[in-house]
Amino acid sequence: MKVPFLDLHTHHRAQRAEFSRAFESVVDLGAFAGGKFVEEFERDFALYCHADHAIGVGSGTDALWLALLAFGIGPGDEVITVPNSFIATAEAISFTGAKPVFVDVDPITYNMDPGALESAITERTRAIIPVHLFGQPANMDPILSIARERNLRVIEDAAQAHGAEYDGRRVGSLADAGCFSFYPGKNLGAFGEGGAVVTNDVELRDRIRKLRDHGQSKKYHHGVVGWNSRMDGIQGAVLQIKLRGLDEGNKLRHSHALRYDEAFSGVDGITVPERGSNVGHVYHIYAIQVPQRDEIMRYLNSKEIGCGIHYPVPIHLQEAYRDLGYARGAFPVAERSAERFLSLPMFPELTHSQLDEVIEVVHDGLKSVGD
Ligand SMILES: *Cc1c(COP(=O)(O)O)cnc(C)c1O
Repeated sequence: MKVPFLDLHTHHRAQRAEFSRAFESVVDLGAFAGGKFVEEFERDFALYCHADHAIGVGSGTDALWLALLAFGIGPGDEVITVPNSFIATAEAISFTGAKPVFVDVDPITYNMDPGALESAITERTRAIIPVHLFGQPANMDPILSIARERNLRVIEDAAQAHGAEYDGRRVGSLADAGCFSFYPGKNLGAFGEGGAVVTNDVELRDRIRKLRDHGQSKKYHHGVVGWNSRMDGIQGAVLQIKLRGLDEGNKLRHSHALRYDEAFSGVDGITVPERGSNVGHVYHIYAIQVPQRDEIMRYLNSKEIGCGIHYPVPIHLQEAYRDLGYARGAFPVAERSAERFLSLPMFPELTHSQLDEVIEVVHDGLKSVGD
C-alpha cells in the first residue's frame, strides 16, 4: 500500500464547499490584499495563541525578518539561533544585515540548548531565535531568563508549532514575538504563502503593520522605508476556516505519534522522539533516528512509503553560509541528527491501516539493511 508523506487532498476534501463560499466572498468584496478577511483571521489567530495581537504577512520567512527589523536589528548585530532548522530562520537574520550565530541543541529534544547559549553571547548579540522544532516547544524558561538578564530580545520561530504548549501556555505568546508560517504543508496551512507575527507589544504590532505595507500609516504617506508583505485576502479567508480544525488535527497527529512510539520503542536500532514533560507537542514532523538512514529511506521509497529528512545539511555547513567559517564538528548534536533523522508520514488524516503499513515497512527495512 502506498502511503504519502503528506496528504493535503484528503485534508481539504471535506471542506471544499466551505472554501468555495469563502472564495466567493473575497471576490464579491474585492478584499484581495489585506482587508476584512485578513483582519478577522488576525483577531482569531491572536486569540488562539493567547496573545493580544497577530499581524498577517506574506510568509513565515517575512514574519521572522520583519520582527527582527521592527526590533531595530541590522548590520553589526548578532542574532543567536540553532543550526538544525529550515534555512529561513538564518536567512531572515542575514536579510536584516545582522550575523547569524549558531548554538548546538539538546540531545533529547533537539531544541536550543540553554547551556550552550550563554557562551555564544557577545557584546554584539541583540536577539535569540529558538525554534520549536517539529512542533515541540523549546525550553523557554532558561532561554528567557538569560535574555532578560542581558536585555536581549527573544523571537520564537513557531513555524512548525501552531498550537503547541509550554507549561500550558501556547507558543507564540511566550516571548517578545512569535513567528508563524502558513505554508500549505504546515499544521495550519494556507492555499499559498502566508505568515504571521504574534505579540503582546502594541508598539511592535504597529511597526510591523507599517513595515509590511510600504512604511505607510496613511495611503501614500511613508514614514519609514518598508516593504510589501501583506497577507492575501484569500489566505485570510481560508485560514479562518482551517483554524477551526487545528486543535482536532493536532490531536490526531498526537495519537498517530503515540502509535508510532508504541511500535518502535525498544526496537533495536530505532530511537523514537522524546517529549519534554511540560510540553504539548503538535508533531508537525515525526522523526525517528536510525543508523544507515539513507539505506532505510531507499527501502521505504521502494515500498512507496513517503518519508523525508529534516534536515540533511545543518545550516552552518550549507554552502550559502560558508563565509561564517564554521567547520564540521562545530555542533556535534545537530550534525549527528542530520545523519540519523528520518521523518515518517504524519498528517491528521492518516488511517490505521496506513500507520500499520508504515510500521511494518520500517521494521522490514531495518531487517533488510541489517542483513
Ligand atoms: C517553514 C519554516 C519557516 C519559513 O516559513 P515560510 O512560510 O516557508 O517562509 C521558518 N522556520 C521554520 C522552522 C520553518 O519550518
